[in-house]
Amino acid sequence: MVGIPYDQRDGFIWLDGKLTPWAEATLHLLSHGLHYGGAVFEGERMYDGEIFKLSEHSERLVESARILDFEIPYTVAEIDQACRDVVAANGLTNAYVRPIAWRGSEQMGVAGQNNTVHLGVAAWDWGSYFDPAARLKGIRTTFAQYRRPDPATAPSKSKAAGLYMICTIEKHRAERLGYADAVMLDWRGYVAEATGANIFFVKDGVLHTPEAWAFLNGITRRTVIDLARKRGIEVVERLIKPEELTDFTECFITGTAAEVTPVSEIGEYHFEVGEISKTLVNDYLNLVHPQQRAVAAAS
Ligand code: PMP
Repeated sequence: MVGIPYDQRDGFIWLDGKLTPWAEATLHLLSHGLHYGGAVFEGERMYDGEIFKLSEHSERLVESARILDFEIPYTVAEIDQACRDVVAANGLTNAYVRPIAWRGSEQMGVAGQNNTVHLGVAAWDWGSYFDPAARLKGIRTTFAQYRRPDPATAPSKSKAAGLYMICTIEKHRAERLGYADAVMLDWRGYVAEATGANIFFVKDGVLHTPEAWAFLNGITRRTVIDLARKRGIEVVERLIKPEELTDFTECFITGTAAEVTPVSEIGEYHFEVGEISKTLVNDYLNLVHPQQRAVAAAS
């Protein structure tokens, strides 16, 4: 389903310090970031007028760029403000926010130190990442063919555009086969994550999740671990072999876009949308909505 193309919408995009009319937020063909993958981005969600964990996202953006050996010419506070300005300029209170930084077009070739670093922030209304019914019945996924690369091979801790190349290939393959997403193993063959979200499993009331050192340690992942521990649910971070999936009764994925989404199937393994998944879906939604948070704090 394709709506209005993303280059033809109304509103404003924050580009290099200025709120720019949406259609004018363009870059040149000979941008280093486009040719050599020198681009890092964030995905944030604003709920009821508040961007959830905004500064953590801005900090990760700055760090992602440093890992790729470039410096964003704005502070974390300035990036936070750019995100707030862009949602305000577009009159949004519930939105997805997308900051992106990239190397410009002063220098071509593999070396790119002399390029200006640009920063843009766009925001738009983006509903549920998966079919909303998925929260009740879970999404069907398949195993990916590509694996998350060894951190010695790729800058795994950076939310770098280039690392999404294999995610897009796998997401396409999954959708072609009738699945909602693909679950990737790491380069050693342990369970890693989905194409845009981290993964959790439940066995005997305990949460198990892969150690996040070969992939992004998601902000949602860390939030859900805290929520589970607050509920007294034990959380174990460890290496998980695909054959172990037969022992798990529940599975869900976590991410800013995906929020907490139950999984009913990974390849031949099946899961139920059980009590722990349902509890964490709701705890997360209550936490991210400031109005519901206030009600919970008062009660
Ligand atoms: N892994 C990948 C590959 C992702 O794209 C995302 C979404 N940014 C995540 C994990 C989850 O990260 P977060 O919870 O910070 O959004």
